Amino acid sequence: MKISDVDIYCPGGHFQHGSVTFANGVIRSLDFDGPAVRNKGSRRKRLLVPGFIDIHVHGSCGRDFLEGEGAIRKASEGMAANGVTTFLPTSAAAPRETIIEALASLPETPGRGADAHSFHLEGPFINPLQKGAQNPSFMRKPDVDELMAYAKASGDRISLVTVAPELEGSENLVRYCTENGIRTSIGHTLAPFETAMKSFDWGVSISNHTYNAMGLFHHRKPGTVGAVLVSDKVYCELIADMVHVSEGGIRLLLRSKSPDRIILITDAIMAQNAGDGRYRTDAFSFTAEGGVARLDDGTLAGSTLTMDQALRNMCSFAPVDIETVIPMLTSNPASALGMTDRGLIDCGMRADLVLLDEQMHVEETYGAGRKIFSGA
Ligand SMILES: [Zn+2]
Repeated sequence: MKISDVDIYCPGGHFQHGSVTFANGVIRSLDFDGPAVRNKGSRRKRLLVPGFIDIHVHGSCGRDFLEGEGAIRKASEGMAANGVTTFLPTSAAAPRETIIEALASLPETPGRGADAHSFHLEGPFINPLQKGAQNPSFMRKPDVDELMAYAKASGDRISLVTVAPELEGSENLVRYCTENGIRTSIGHTLAPFETAMKSFDWGVSISNHTYNAMGLFHHRKPGTVGAVLVSDKVYCELIADMVHVSEGGIRLLLRSKSPDRIILITDAIMAQNAGDGRYRTDAFSFTAEGGVARLDDGTLAGSTLTMDQALRNMCSFAPVDIETVIPMLTSNPASALGMTDRGLIDCGMRADLVLLDEQMHVEETYGAGRKIFSGA
């Protein structure tokens, strides 16, 4: 199969005009015939970029991933319309049995939509004092035995665990994960600067939704926010819905971090792709109004953001161009998670591709070479 007459986002970080050929789910060749059509105005511009990878998403299309396989399959189809080709179904803090059941139902075979690659455990090993919208009664101290039970239930398909490093047991858990190829992120935490810095030595490599649920920055107590901003190696997740973090907060992140260390996530909940209204999960209920989801006490309850909207937001509100932003949804999350088969448009990579129009709206999405969304 071949996609022609497109501006292709190349591994070097620029667009070039040409075509991409793929077969058996893998990109076979790239053929370029000139510079990008962008800004010439004479022809309709179409952009071909790598499929988006959302490593932090709790639900979509009215379903929560803790409901299990049916929810994951339905959401994976809905998210393909947002340009997502890979995602990590993400748990909130929940009873142990609920998490085990959800992990056991992670589909073995790919569905018709985006690839549910592996699981992200955002709960339960987080600090109740930074609970965000999660239920504090289901938060527990980091425990390697509990994690091993989860890993077993999932068929060793947990690739990311969020931990509050100030909790007892966190060093053991992080070191265990690091030794076993599971990434860890610092989040829902009140860790002081020094504790956060120590956790990076244990192996923590990602900052969970940077700024949100990590205490306040103070010039004499820079806290977790200060630690993740000054640590070059640490990847920083960002919810770019312009509600969770202000434009100023985004500018500070862009000033502090190299663009190859920023990862756009949605942190979306079941209201993504489902509209405003009242929603209920086993753990909590919330109202989505004007696309903003809040608990009854006003706490933000995750987002309704989609990945394509995150791309458009960054290009509109932040002082960065699309060439700089694309890796934040593609190659950065891939390298943060050690996925070597996706995140770039290059020969031998999975044919995970998104065709965008001039306004960066999704026209078509391909997952491993299959058309998983067409807006036509
Ligand atoms: Zn989350």
